Amino acid sequence: MTAYLQTHFRYSTMNSWNGADSYAHNLKIYKLGLCSEIEDKLYDLLSFQEFFDSLRELMDDFASRHQYRWQVGMNGRSGGYLVLYEGELRPTGYLSFCTRCGQRNYRKVEETGNICGKCGRPARVNYRQTPMQAVTFPGRGVDMDEDFDEWSLEDLRDRVRLVQDFDRLADEMVAQAIQFAKNYSIEEVEVCVPQTQRVLVANR
Ligand SMILES: [Zn+2]
Repeated sequence: MTAYLQTHFRYSTMNSWNGADSYAHNLKIYKLGLCSEIEDKLYDLLSFQEFFDSLRELMDDFASRHQYRWQVGMNGRSGGYLVLYEGELRPTGYLSFCTRCGQRNYRKVEETGNICGKCGRPARVNYRQTPMQAVTFPGRGVDMDEDFDEWSLEDLRDRVRLVQDFDRLADEMVAQAIQFAKNYSIEEVEVCVPQTQRVLVANR
């Protein structure tokens, strides 16, 4: 287990000069060993938001099943590295929200009435619990120069399970990207854009 953790590929959590690093995977397209057809397609897909959204979903699932205590992000100059980050869930402090427009408020309905300050409708209600938001610590390294011999067997097992789940995520993301490349084609469509022009009209 120690060897697995110690020899795992690592990458900076922020910049190389920041000095912090963590478990990582190199997901640069040319490093994945794919056939050139899929490879070219993936480069084309990089300009589509839908492609990133589908991968983002897998990353969000990972964070959610680790209670946001562990999250992942893409780092590197062109974002080619998947990096494991520490994080946490923090209360936002919002106490009420508008059921019509979604506007959130730091005060309770009892204090301010139920009229929404944004849309003006009497639709504000209290949260039963203040909503939480995910916070990431990108400057924090993970297991840098860690002496695993000092760890209990249980802690070591937990950490291995976490990093293995992270490895699985990287595999899933690659598999999903390949599926995307196989299932979608990029086509060109012509779009007519309405344009305002000035014209001369004879006076009546
Ligand atoms: Zn509102």
